[in-house]
Amino acid sequence: MTDTPLPSDAAPACVARNSPVHGQGVFAGRDLHAGERIIEYTGERIEWDEAIRRSAQSGGPVNHTFYFSLEDGRVIDGGSGGNDSRLINHSCEPNCEAFEEDGQVFIYAMQDIAAGAELNYSYPLIYDGPHTRAVKAAFACHCGAPTCSGTMLAPKQRPVKKNKKAKAP
Ligand SMILES: [Zn+2]
Repeated sequence: MTDTPLPSDAAPACVARNSPVHGQGVFAGRDLHAGERIIEYTGERIEWDEAIRRSAQSGGPVNHTFYFSLEDGRVIDGGSGGNDSRLINHSCEPNCEAFEEDGQVFIYAMQDIAAGAELNYSYPLIYDGPHTRAVKAAFACHCGAPTCSGTMLAPKQRPVKKNKKAKAP
């Protein structure tokens, strides 16, 4: 893993454009090397309660694809002040991986990636509402990997418990 800054005249590590997989996608702007830091997952940091409120307000769970859970229980809302990283599609056999480092999230290349290839990572989506047929359809995975699970949804679980941060000494 390397975090060497890139020369400013280099082609961008990634570019967003329409994806054959799902809506827009993000593609390697140049050859990427395994372990290379590609882009930070940016956006407004909000509490889960607020994330759920915003999702309901926007008319459904689809916005959840822009949420990235942080270890402290908050989420990054890539739909608010986020960059192209929010458009990176899910794959069951991804070529990238997201790591949280001190509250920041970065997308790294897991392997050498040729310029022009679509970037993707595996993000089991946590959706707290009922996994209805419509919800499952909205989050069906079409990544085409032989091991594709057919869904982007993580098995149902509760978001981080509120009492985790209570009872400060
Ligand atoms: Zn898949």
